[in-house]
Amino acid sequence: MSVIASNIQRIRDIIDRMHPDHAVAIMAVTKNRTRQEADEAINRGVDLVGENRVQESIAKWIPRPSVPLHLIGHLQTNKVKYAIDHFDAVDSLDSEKIAEQLNRRLAEQSRGTFKVMLQINAGMEESKTGFPPHCDVVRNFLLQASKWPHLEFIGIMALFPRAIDTSEQEKEKVRKLMKETGELWRMCQLEGFPWAPLTTLSMGMSEDYEWAIDAGSTLIRVGTSIFGPR
Ligand SMILES: *Cc1c(COP(=O)(O)O)cnc(C)c1O
Repeated sequence: MSVIASNIQRIRDIIDRMHPDHAVAIMAVTKNRTRQEADEAINRGVDLVGENRVQESIAKWIPRPSVPLHLIGHLQTNKVKYAIDHFDAVDSLDSEKIAEQLNRRLAEQSRGTFKVMLQINAGMEESKTGFPPHCDVVRNFLLQASKWPHLEFIGIMALFPRAIDTSEQEKEKVRKLMKETGELWRMCQLEGFPWAPLTTLSMGMSEDYEWAIDAGSTLIRVGTSIFGPR
């Protein structure tokens, strides 16, 4: 068995052993990985692939992968036109402006709906973009999202401060933020906006996916634990 194959098996085993009461999908994060490495992960059963950069992704993923390909990095407005042609979903919708631009492009091309996720900056870190993890902010944004008929909000992608090599106290803070984000997601889901089914909670990376699954994550984004250090 290849290293990539055994790494994916190990992650699946951990998920199974945790026996969460919901399904957990695995996204292989393939930034800085070759097409060959990425294809190996797909052949070994990851559910989808995620890329951070539009350009890098286009170079790597033509021809397209056999699983859905999502953008998980910040989208610049000048790349919107490439993004809607290339990706199956943009999980990193982090501003009203980008929602406007996506919707406008899709309208111009007479396209149907395009899948997006709302990006939440759970730790409100300066270095990251996204909406604050506040129920009223997120709810209000989703409420007015009906004005973008070409966007379907399929989920929330949440980012957290790195917790590895930090104190127990810092780790506990991240675990708490994850629980709160899980609750925020469930509350917004209950709103029942037809344009925002929010079936997915994308939360957890290599170092913290077990906490994330505990807190309700339905999709983990894993790079290092599949492919090794970058
Ligand atoms: C790089 C990246 C990941 C994967 O990180 P690992 O620690 O390598 O698992 C997940 N999500 C986002 C948004 C990323 O940029």
